[in-house]
Amino acid sequence: MNQAAPRTPQALDIEQVRRDFPALNQSVNGKPLVYLDNAASAQKPQAVLDAMDQYYRESHSNVHRGAHTLGDRATMAFEGARDTVRGFLNANSISEIVWVRGATEGINLIANGFYDRLGPEDEILISHMEHHANIVPWQMLAQKTGATLKVIAVTDEGELDQDSFREQLSERTAVFAITQVSNTLGTINPVTEMVAAAKEAGAFTVVDGAQAVPHMSVDVQALGCDFLVFSSHKVFGPTGIGVVYGREELMHEWPVYQTGGEMIHRVSFEGTSFQNSPYRFEAGTPAIAEAVGLGEAIRYLDGLGRDAIEAAEKTLQQRVNEWTADFPGLHPIGTSSNKVPVLSFTLDGLHPSDVGTLLDQQGVAIRTGHHCTMPLMERFGVPGTARASFAFYNTVEEVDTFFQGLQKIQRLFA
Ligand code: PLP
Repeated sequence: MNQAAPRTPQALDIEQVRRDFPALNQSVNGKPLVYLDNAASAQKPQAVLDAMDQYYRESHSNVHRGAHTLGDRATMAFEGARDTVRGFLNANSISEIVWVRGATEGINLIANGFYDRLGPEDEILISHMEHHANIVPWQMLAQKTGATLKVIAVTDEGELDQDSFREQLSERTAVFAITQVSNTLGTINPVTEMVAAAKEAGAFTVVDGAQAVPHMSVDVQALGCDFLVFSSHKVFGPTGIGVVYGREELMHEWPVYQTGGEMIHRVSFEGTSFQNSPYRFEAGTPAIAEAVGLGEAIRYLDGLGRDAIEAAEKTLQQRVNEWTADFPGLHPIGTSSNKVPVLSFTLDGLHPSDVGTLLDQQGVAIRTGHHCTMPLMERFGVPGTARASFAFYNTVEEVDTFFQGLQKIQRLFA
C-alpha cells in the first residue's frame, strides 16, 4: 500500500524572517536587542507596516458609506480583513467575526450578553491560571446576577487539574470560560476535550485564544466552542484591534454591547432596531487601518507556514529546556511538557524586577511582575516572576544570550 510521505515543514530562514521585522534590528543600551516579551506584545513585520501605510495613503475613508470610490476601497479592505480572520479561525461565516479593541473588550462583550441570562442558581467556571481579562468580567457578572464563580485548580506543574474540573462541572455550570494557553506559564490546555465536556453539561463555552493564536493553528470548528477571543497585537498585527468569534446562531440574538452609529438598522425616537451580527456589535467608526494590518499579519504568517513556525518554536523550547535543566538558583514556574516557549521563573536572591532591569542593560527585554495573573502568583507563593516569552523570530543564540545574561547577573550579586 502506498503511504503518503510524512510532510516535513520547510524550515524558516530565520535571518530572512528577522529582516522582515524592523524593530528587531536595533541596539538597546548599546547591545543588540533581544526581544523576549512577545507574550505581552509581539513585533510587527514590514508587510503590516506597509499595508497600513498604503491604506492611509490610497484608500482611507469611512467604511460602509459607499457613496464614493475611496469609501468603497476602505470598505473592501476592512471587510476583506474580516474574511481573512474568518479563514484564519476556520469560522463558517463573517457574521461570526466581530471587531473589538482586543481580547479584553471581547470577553466583556460576551459577558455582557449573560447579564439577563444568569441567576443565583447558575455557576461560572473558570480556572486559576486565567488572565485578569478572563476573571474580572465573570466576577462582575457573578456579583450582579448572584451566580457563583467556580475555579479549576492548577497543579504544581502548572497544568489544569482535570479532577478539579470534573468535580466542579455540573448542570449548574452556565458558562465555562478558559484560556487555551497560559500567558504566564505557557501551558497548552486540553481545551477541545474540556469544551466538549462543558457543552455536554449544557454550558456556554468561551475560549481565550489570546496566547494560542501566535503559536498554533486555532480552528474554532474543531474546538467546538461558542465563543473565542484574541488580540491582534499578540499575533504580529497592530494594537487597538481584536476579534470575537461567536457561533452564528448565537450572534444574531446576542445582546448588543455598545450602541450608536453603524450598529443600527433603524432609529426613531420611539425606538431603535439593530443590525445583524457582526455589525450590531460595532458601534461607531471602527479601527479600519488596524483591521487591514491584522489581515496582513495573518497573510504573513500563512506565508511562513504554521508548521514551520511551530518547528522553529520547538527548537527554541528545546534550547530553553537544556539551559533550565541545570541552572543553579533558577526556578521555573510551570513545568508542563506541553507548552509554548514561555519561561516564568524566579532567581534566588533577586527580585524579578531587578532581573528585568539588569537584563535590559544587556539589551534583553523580558517582562516582570504578576503578568495580570495575581491569583496564579498566589497559587505559586510568589509576588511575581520574570518571564521570557519567545516568538518564531527569536534565535537559539538569543536564548543563549538571555541565559548568559542571567549568569552574569548571578555573578554580579554572588
Ligand atoms: N488573555 C490572555 C491570556 C492574555 O495574555 C492577555 C494579554 O496579555 C489578554 C487576555 C488581554 O489581551 P489585551 O490586553 O490585548 O486585551
